[in-house]
Order: sequence, then structure tokens, then C-alpha cells
Amino acid sequence: MAHIPDTDGIRCPNCGKRIPQSDQKQYLYGSPIKFCKKCRGAYVDRSYHEIAIDGFPPSEMNAKTGLKSALVGIIMFVTCAGIFITEIIYSGRYHRIFPVLAVMGIVLVFIGIIDSIRVKTGSKAKSLEKKRQESVQRLRDPNYAVQLKELGYNVPDEFLPVEYLQQNRQSVMNQ
Ligand SMILES: [Zn+2]
Repeated sequence: MAHIPDTDGIRCPNCGKRIPQSDQKQYLYGSPIKFCKKCRGAYVDRSYHEIAIDGFPPSEMNAKTGLKSALVGIIMFVTCAGIFITEIIYSGRYHRIFPVLAVMGIVLVFIGIIDSIRVKTGSKAKSLEKKRQESVQRLRDPNYAVQLKELGYNVPDEFLPVEYLQQNRQSVMNQ
């Protein structure tokens, strides 16, 4: 079952309902199998990854990644707080977006610094290993592995039951 590509999301392969996709650039951990709210049919959300199959992006274990996002946060805070203060001083009014973005900048600084500390202390490696184990656990269920494969996710043969692989090979030969 292939997905019908759409400009701002995908359509449910079962009922055609438009499903807003999570940001494709994001690399989220967890089962890619999601269920349509309308028909409850299964589909694959490409932002989610089975870590036991796809692995982690290398940036995850790089302490610089957190520091980079902290730097972006600082720039965001300084710029937006600056615009906010300037607007208040010169017009007494302000666009609500700037104080909001300034606060988001601060949050980004904290998240970045904490991430960097977690990489350095090894606590991040531990939590990623836990996520990998969860992924292995999910894939050990042959029904789950087959469903994931049927939905178009690249599942290596090692996770698929022998009967399924034989069946598949036969149907390929019969075509
Ligand atoms: Zn649906």
C-alpha cells in the first residue's frame, strides 16, 4: 500500500482522509505505525523511526548539537527581546509574537545546554539505548513487523517470520 503524496501531509491509505504529517525533518523515536482518527486504519508516519532498523542520527551523540541550538536560542532571545523593548519605548504598543519568541529562545537555550550536558555525562547514551531496546521489543512481535513491512516501511528480513518471507518470495516468482 503506497502513500498518496500530498503537499501538506498524506492521505489515509484506507479512507482518504487528509492527515497532517509531523515535520519530516524531525527524527522522532517510536512506532511509525499510527492510526487514522476517522477510520482507525493503520498508516506509517515517516517522521517516526524504528531505531532498531534505522539507528540514531549521528547528531544525537554530538555535544555540539545542543550548544548550537543554545546559540540559536540566544540570538532569538536577543533579537526578539530587542524588538519588543524598542516597540514599547517608541510606540507603547507591541506585536505579541516578539515576547513569545523571546521566551521560546530562552527555552531553546536551556534545552540545548541540558542536551549537551546529557551527552557529556553519558546519560543520553543510556536513554537512547533504552529507546533502542523498546524498538527491538516491538519488532520481536512478528505481527507488528509484518504490518510495518506491509505499510511500506523498510523492515529487514531478520525481523520477519520465515513463513512470511517464503510466501513473499513465492508471490514474487508467480508474478
Ligand atoms: Zn482513514
